[in-house]
Amino acid sequence: MSNRTFTMIKPDATRKGNTGAILQMINAAGFRIAAMKMTKLSKEKAGEFYAVHAARPFYGELVDFMSSGPITAAILEKDNAVEDFRKLIGATNPAEAADGTIRKLFAASIGENAVHGSDSNENAGIEGDFFFSKLEQF
Ligand code: ATP
Ligand code: MG
Repeated sequence: MSNRTFTMIKPDATRKGNTGAILQMINAAGFRIAAMKMTKLSKEKAGEFYAVHAARPFYGELVDFMSSGPITAAILEKDNAVEDFRKLIGATNPAEAADGTIRKLFAASIGENAVHGSDSNENAGIEGDFFFSKLEQF
């Protein structure tokens, strides 16, 4: 599991037509796509996915945003996947994201920040299984 991470291309990036460009950056950085689908989270499912943030002041806004339109969910494989993917996406707040990162290029704000990336190997497994059955993970 340690060589896999989980990502979502969030509703803002989908709306702006950035899905292809983001997938291109992910492939160019050496990640293999092990599972992928375009889908839309209900408010309930978005709340469940981000339950760890339920007590945070931005939780309602986060759930509304993440259920506001289609996303692309994917499991990505590469050595050191979790850490390397967090580097590729950049800081949560795009104003603090390094040049050349996905969030620097495509995110508008700390809330609408283009992509999700797992923060640990354990969560990568949990999050991948949230979206994909074992039959859909290659
Ligand atoms: P993600 O989990 O989506 O990859 P992250 O790990 O960089 O992002 P988290 O702290 O896990 O950041 O926050 C989850 C998401 O909640 C952020 O990506 C962002 O969309 C939203 N968020 C975080 N902080 C704020 C905030 N201060 N105001 C509004 N939304 C926020
Ligand atoms: Mg996070």
